Amino acid sequence: MSKIVIDCGHNAVGDRGARCADGRTENELNQAVSDRLAALLSAAGHVVTRVGNDSTGVVERGAAGAKNDCDLMLSIHHNAFGQGANGTSVIKSVFADSAAPCAAQTAQLILDAVSDAVGTRRRNGGKPSVRWNSAHNADYYGVIRGNKKRNTLIVESLFCDNMSDLTRWDPDRIAAAICGAVCAVFGKPVNAAAAKEETPERPRFAAGDLVEFSGGSHFVSSDAAKPTGGVRTAGRARLTKIAAGRAHPYHLIGTTSNVWGWVDADRVGAIGGGV
Ligand SMILES: [Zn+2]
Repeated sequence: MSKIVIDCGHNAVGDRGARCADGRTENELNQAVSDRLAALLSAAGHVVTRVGNDSTGVVERGAAGAKNDCDLMLSIHHNAFGQGANGTSVIKSVFADSAAPCAAQTAQLILDAVSDAVGTRRRNGGKPSVRWNSAHNADYYGVIRGNKKRNTLIVESLFCDNMSDLTRWDPDRIAAAICGAVCAVFGKPVNAAAAKEETPERPRFAAGDLVEFSGGSHFVSSDAAKPTGGVRTAGRARLTKIAAGRAHPYHLIGTTSNVWGWVDADRVGAIGGGV
């Protein structure tokens, strides 16, 4: 799976970001989404690193993404603009399309997924945004500019200073939407129920079990092409070794049978006939 860096926006002393319409700080919202997102991505098998300690500036946060050799860096924010603006936006590097195409692709998926999950408007005509610096030679935002891998995305789920947007805020849905988008590009999400079904059937026996051998060939190794010796008699045997997935997965030493070698799975049953 992939290495994902999460930067919780405005997690610094003296910078808690925008003021929400209900009095909370933007950082509180960022933290709630970041915590859930980190848990979901970890559960999906990704290696998640959190950056952004109190003393870390935005450019340094971005640099931490490259330093961690991440496949994707997500900077989690909520927007604000005089209470009159609304909607979801995702900002990618001005160089992302060529330098980090997977991040660019993920930006679009996150924008769509978050908007759909909480019912917000897609900003920027439904496309991820970019912003040049004034000299038009680098990214404007430090957390994007500082990451030389060009794979930082700033996620602005909605406008926290706008009460109609804020009432849609749901950190579980937002985190799940972001995680789903990331996993669509960087790996499949782990579905606990499905994963259980796909787990190969466990060997029915453990080494040390006394089992019923129904008689037949035995082999010198678990993947030998030809049997050795003659046909062995049916009877009881001690299962001494298991080589799961091999042609002759059970090694038996007979107690009442004369088997002494590797045998096929269908020759072995539980004492008393039950399997
Ligand atoms: Zn912010």
